[in-house]
Amino acid sequence: MKAIKILHTIGSTIAIVGLMLVLLKAGQVTCERMRDWCEKRIERVSLPEFGAKVTPVLPKPKPPPLPPGYSIFVLCYHDFRERPNRWSISPKRLEAHIQTLRALGFSFLTMSEAVDLLTGRWNGRLPEKAVVITVDDGFRSAYTVLFPLLKCYNAKATLFVYTEWIGKTSAALTWEQLREMAQSGLVEIASHTVTHTYPRRLKRSLSDEQFKRRVEWEFVQSKRELEQKLGVKVEGLAYPGGHVDETLKALARKAGYRWAAVVNPKPITVSVDLYALPRYGVSSETTVAALKAWVTKQPIQLVRHSHRAKKTGKTTANMRLARNKLSTRITAHRSR
Ligand SMILES: [Zn+2]
Repeated sequence: MKAIKILHTIGSTIAIVGLMLVLLKAGQVTCERMRDWCEKRIERVSLPEFGAKVTPVLPKPKPPPLPPGYSIFVLCYHDFRERPNRWSISPKRLEAHIQTLRALGFSFLTMSEAVDLLTGRWNGRLPEKAVVITVDDGFRSAYTVLFPLLKCYNAKATLFVYTEWIGKTSAALTWEQLREMAQSGLVEIASHTVTHTYPRRLKRSLSDEQFKRRVEWEFVQSKRELEQKLGVKVEGLAYPGGHVDETLKALARKAGYRWAAVVNPKPITVSVDLYALPRYGVSSETTVAALKAWVTKQPIQLVRHSHRAKKTGKTTANMRLARNKLSTRITAHRSR
C-alpha cells in the first residue's frame, strides 16, 4: 500500500514537471515570435530619428482662377531723360505714370510674375489690376531714374538688356548696377540678345541655316552671360525690333526661355501666346492721359479740329489722345 502511494507521488511529480517544461517551451516560442513581429513593424514604419525635422506633405494649394476678361497691361519704356527724344520720356513724366497707375489701383508685377499668374503658378492673392513696367536696351537711366522711383513707390519692373552694350559707354548700365537692382527684389533682369541686331536685318543677309544659328547664339549666349554674371535665373526675352514669327518663337523656346515679349499695343489676356506677350510702346507722346486711355481701355474718338483750335493752334485733350493712339499704331512696330 505504501509502495503504491510512493509510486503515485513520483508519477504525479513527473507529470507536473513535464507540463511545466511544455509550458515554458511554448512561452519561449511566443516571445520570439512577438520580438520578430515587433522588429518587422519597426522596419516597416521607419520612424525618423528623435529630434529630426518632420515636414508634412500637404496638397499644393490651388491657384485662384483668373476671372474671365482679366487683363494685364505691359508698358515698354526705353530711356528717361530731361530732354526726351522719340523713345524716351522725362523723369517727371515717368513718376506721373507710376503715380497714376497707383491711384488707379494697379499692382506692379515683374513680367515673370505676370506669366506665373497666367500659368497658374502664382500663389499669392490675385491683384485686382495688374501692370508691368518693362524697359528695353539697358540705358543707365534705368538705374539713375527708374530704380529710385521703384524703391519710393514699392513698384517692380523688368529690364531687357543686350549684353554687348553693358558697361561700354556712360549711357549704358554697368554690371554692378544690374547686380544691385537684381538683388533688390524689385527688378527682374531679362535678355534682349547679345548684339541687338534686328532678326529681320539678319534674315536679309544670311541663309536660313546661318540665320537660325546666329539667332540661336544671340538667345543662348545672352541668357548664359546674364545668369553667370548676375547669379539670377533669366526667364524671359524681348525680341529686338519687337517683331516675332514662328521661327523666332521656336528658337526662344529652344534656348530655354519660359516666355518672350513683343511690342503690340494690347493687354495680355489668359489665352495669350507666352512667346509673343504684347506690350504698349511708350514714346515721348505718351502723356498721362494717353496712358490712362490704354489701361482703362477708354475708347478714343477721332475729333475734327474746332474752328478755334485751328485759329489758335491749340489742341484739345481729345485730339491729343487721338494723335497718341494713331502714333502708337504707326510706331508700335518700329520700336527699338
Ligand atoms: Zn531694343
